Amino acid sequence: MLVVGLTGGIGAGKSTAAARFGELGAVVIDVDAIGREVLAPGGRAESGVVDAFGPGILGEDGHIDRGKVAAEVFGRADRLEALEAVSHPAINTELDSRLLELAEAGEVDVVVLDMAVLTESRLGQLESGRGYTQVVVVEAPEEVRLPRLLERGLTEEQARARMASQATDDQRRAIADHVIVNDGSPEDLASAVDQVWAELTKA
Ligand code: ADP
Repeated sequence: MLVVGLTGGIGAGKSTAAARFGELGAVVIDVDAIGREVLAPGGRAESGVVDAFGPGILGEDGHIDRGKVAAEVFGRADRLEALEAVSHPAINTELDSRLLELAEAGEVDVVVLDMAVLTESRLGQLESGRGYTQVVVVEAPEEVRLPRLLERGLTEEQARARMASQATDDQRRAIADHVIVNDGSPEDLASAVDQVWAELTKA
């Protein structure tokens, strides 16, 4: 079973590419969603994050308010590190158990890990050896990403701040096995994904 890490800067087209990989037969795991699950009530990182950040990050319902956590860590490297020290091992543990289950079922050839954070950390790299072994990066110039993000409801300032807080294109390219440049039409993106799929799955 081949495990692929798929990443890209916000608005580059990562989720659209992931959906195409799904159509081609990959099982797609949304690692960003696991990141939200581990903070949810009963999640693997819930108590660790509350211990690290204190009750100020709790909502009125007594559970973690992700907006408060985001506000706490945004632009503060030490606080982000403290969050990731708890959340990333929890995400990797969850990921490992899902990958083990898929491997044991023996019915899947390719798993795509859809993950915004890959370049920046050890997320998706698993001691069991079950983590990703190939990296696919989707990239697009900022001028192409910006209007997509504005359409999604972010202000220009928010969009630029998000882009600036992530890894750079150069950093992503440095660890990529395959780079998809998404600066054309959605059809162009689909055919670029098809081509990478053909390379990943050739015997
Ligand atoms: P990411 O997951 O990298 O943040 P998405 O795949 O969600 O990005 O794409 C961001 C937005 O841009 C979505 O609304 C998507 O439909 C749109 N989009 C992606 N690729 C293209 C493209 N080649 N042409 C036009 N719109 C696109």
